[in-house]
Formats: sequence, structure tokens, C-alpha cells
Amino acid sequence: MGKLIGKVAIVTASFDGIGLSIAERLAEDGAKVMISSRKQQNVDKALQTLKNKGLTVSGVVCHVAKKEHRQKLIEQTVNEYGGIDLLVSNAAVNPIFGPMLNSTEDAWDKIFEVNVKSTFFLIKEIVPYMEKRGGGSMVIVSSASGYIPIVGSKFTGAYSTSKTALFGMAKAVARQLARMNIRVNCIAPGLIKTKFSEILAEHEGEEIIKVMPLKRFGEPSECAGIVSFLLSADASYITGETVGVTGGISSRL
Ligand code: NAP
Repeated sequence: MGKLIGKVAIVTASFDGIGLSIAERLAEDGAKVMISSRKQQNVDKALQTLKNKGLTVSGVVCHVAKKEHRQKLIEQTVNEYGGIDLLVSNAAVNPIFGPMLNSTEDAWDKIFEVNVKSTFFLIKEIVPYMEKRGGGSMVIVSSASGYIPIVGSKFTGAYSTSKTALFGMAKAVARQLARMNIRVNCIAPGLIKTKFSEILAEHEGEEIIKVMPLKRFGEPSECAGIVSFLLSADASYITGETVGVTGGISSRL
């Protein structure tokens, strides 16, 4: 406990699901946390939940694909907490579900804009603030579906491809950021019980459980401790890596 005391963290898409669990854990471990999502009412609801637990959190509306929203997220964090040390890029969309060859160009544009391009630009825009603090640490929430077809790719091919891109992005950007004492790692959740995964669980749940050694879906909170660890000084020699949180499903390309 307390391994993130004195640190300031941003978590995107953190009103619910995995993002909310991560925000809660980082705050429990001592960080001051800026949460965000696209809707003010959702941000307010999450803030209430976290503040009722006595945690130091603030919140702002941020659609990660909107540059002006990303700027507001950064500005508000710096104004309220004095800087930025930690980033969790958690936002992602999957507007299509079905055989990959049915996917449209619009869907590919949206998926890559939110899941991949916005992740990169948020990283790029936050780097100067981490440099000012003498370093920092980032975690990108990718997906096990970026590794292997059994988790999702049958019906979510474009989404899975975007998540594969994030593994490459973490490795590529980690090389340049290492010089600035900034580490970048990914987690690759398997099937975690959230609103996002409901449709996947419905269609592929049984198939996934069959190949999963732990034989159950994960809880959002089971993604939180590993993120806190990767962000902390305990992981000071780890960068450019991805950790699977998959109930034992193979996590290699
Ligand atoms: P979730 O429970 O549905 O939560 C999604 C969150 O995303 C909400 O806070 C939503 O709030 C926000 N959001 C959606 N689009 C956004 C955008 N453009 N900008 C900012 N916020 C946005 O989802 P989840 O399952 O926790 O997923 C979180 C991450 O885990 C995603 O990257 C997902 O790909 C990854 N993941 C999930 C699973 C799984 O099984 N659940 C598995 C592998 C990976 P608003 O509606 O208020 O914006």
C-alpha cells in the first residue's frame, strides 16, 4: 500500500468497468487521480463513488479522439494537482460486431481513431509534463484479442487488429521515451465482466471458457493491481512489455 504516494495519474474512460477499477486502485495506492469519460453525468457518478470511499480524485469530460478534450484533461490535471506522473490509456470502441469481411471503412476509421491514434497523441501530449517531473510511467489497456483469435477476433476483427497495433506502439514509443525516464507498458485483458464485453460473452463466452485454464471470466478489479504495479517504482526495469490478464489463455502473437 502507498506505493504511488505523491504521484498524479490520469485514467481515460474511467467512469465504469476496467477504467474505474484502475482509478480506484491507483487512488488507494496513494495517487491523486483524474478520471474522465465522454459524459459529465457519468464522470459525476464515478466521482461520487470514489469520493465516498475517501479517495483523492477529480474528474473531467474527455472524448479521447477530440484534441481540445485531451488538452482540457491535461490542463485540469496540472491546475488541480500540479503535474502529471502516470497515464493509463484505457478508452476504446468497437462499433461493429460480426464477420470481419462485413466491416465498413467508417468503422475502421472510428476504431483506429479512438483506439490507436488517440492513444498515441495523448501519450505525445503528456510527455512534456512527465519530462518536467523528471520521468513518468504509462500503461496502455490493449486486449488479449490483439494476440489470438479465440478472444473476440471471430466477430471483432477490426477491433482486435487495433489492439495488436497497441502492442507495437508500446514497444516503439518506449524506446524513445526511455531516454526521458518514461516507461510504457501494456496490459492485455482477456474476457472481463463489463458492459463492453457483454455481446462478446454472449456469442463466444462458452468457446473462450473452454480454452481458459482458470475457467471463468475476470472481474474489472483483477486488472487493477497489475496496472498499479507497472506504474510504480517496483516495475522500474520493465518497459515496452505487455502483461496478459487472461485467466491463462496464451498471450503471444
Ligand atoms: P466499459 O465498462 O464499457 O467502459 C467503457 C468506458 O469507456 C466508459 O467509461 C465510457 O464512458 C468510456 N468511453 C467510451 N468511449 C470513449 C471515448 N471515445 N473517450 C473516452 N471515454 C470513452 O469497458 P471496459 O470493458 O472496462 O473496457 C475498458 C478497456 O478495456 C477498453 O480499452 C477495452 O478495449 C479493454 N478490454 C476490455 C475487455 C473486456 O472483456 N471487458 C477485454 C479486453 C480489453 P462514457 O460512455 O461516459 O464515455
